Amino acid sequence: MSGKAVFVYHPDLEKYYFKPEHPFNPTRLRITVSLLQELGLLKENDIVTPRLASMEELLLAHDQDYIRAVEKLSNNCFEEEGLFFGIGTEDNPAFSDMHWASSLVVGATLTAGEEIMEGRADHAVSIAGGLHHAGRRQASGFCIYNDINVAIRYLCHKYHIRVFYIDTDAHHGDGVQWEFYEDPNVLTVSFHESGRFLFPGTGWLNERGKKEGYGYCVNVPLEPFTDDNSFLECFREVVPPLIEAFQPDLIISQNGCDGHFYDSLTHINLSISAFQEIPRLVHQLAHAFSGGKWLAVGGGGYDPFRVVARAWVLLWAEAAGLNVKGNIPLSWQKKWQKISPCTVPQTLFDSPEVSLSVPRCQEIAEKNFRAASQAVQDTLIVLNKYI
Ligand SMILES: [Zn+2]
Repeated sequence: MSGKAVFVYHPDLEKYYFKPEHPFNPTRLRITVSLLQELGLLKENDIVTPRLASMEELLLAHDQDYIRAVEKLSNNCFEEEGLFFGIGTEDNPAFSDMHWASSLVVGATLTAGEEIMEGRADHAVSIAGGLHHAGRRQASGFCIYNDINVAIRYLCHKYHIRVFYIDTDAHHGDGVQWEFYEDPNVLTVSFHESGRFLFPGTGWLNERGKKEGYGYCVNVPLEPFTDDNSFLECFREVVPPLIEAFQPDLIISQNGCDGHFYDSLTHINLSISAFQEIPRLVHQLAHAFSGGKWLAVGGGGYDPFRVVARAWVLLWAEAAGLNVKGNIPLSWQKKWQKISPCTVPQTLFDSPEVSLSVPRCQEIAEKNFRAASQAVQDTLIVLNKYI
């Protein structure tokens, strides 16, 4: 598949940093870029520097009093009023320059969208983006501003496009879902560990959108210990027919990699191979149905050395059409072993014997597949009726 890809990145994106010991550690961006460079997969001219999102742009998906509170808390992290907006909690502690750093993350996703819509690239990857939990006036799940919502609003308004959003983070993409819940121009699909077991507790089959947006919201809640085969079977059941029926102008994928079996925050049981196969499928679908237009953002991922770096190397390699080899350079291993709490990986893929064996995997797969079939059915009826 042909298609020019750009990588939107600047080291300042690491300033989106809550505090030491917080699970959302932006060093994962540097570790990923370092692995890409050591593998020879990322060249200087692949990289586009992100711009900062403006106040006007943030207002497309956030309320003014919320933005004002974030600004104020950026200078004084102890203001109690933050709690009203979900800031100052254990998940979302205030940090200095929070407004600036969060605006840069949003700006990175906006930059990625502009690169595509202005025709300078077919695919754009913004690994700092993917803050899918933030609401219009609510910080949630490590997310202050929702870069995806701002970007979708901005791009839809400026270019009059329809967007297909695919979220494969282990957590439900609630912030994006609720923002576009009544909007038939944005179809959101989220695959996630069932809300019975995992934050944010939503993403049920019966959340299907409202009013004109009915049918344009699809959720596939998955069982704990879902493996690659079951996850990909559900993905193939749902995503290709929906994209074909919806005919989007742009596909946006959220590529959280916290569904890996090493990730300590979730109970999904994917291997690194799944994080190669998911973008591969999205890439093919973009060339088949959206003129190649594909914007990929990052998301969750709390094991930076063993999971995030490898998963997002594979994401970029897929977007850029590059072949990857199995081994990780010794120089990268040596450099990062010094600060890694676990043994850093020697290969890009997991060896089969490392993955956890799951006793009930057939039962889990059957349950997941039933959910996927149900999830897609009603939406296909709606799409085929009106388009
Ligand atoms: Zn997540």
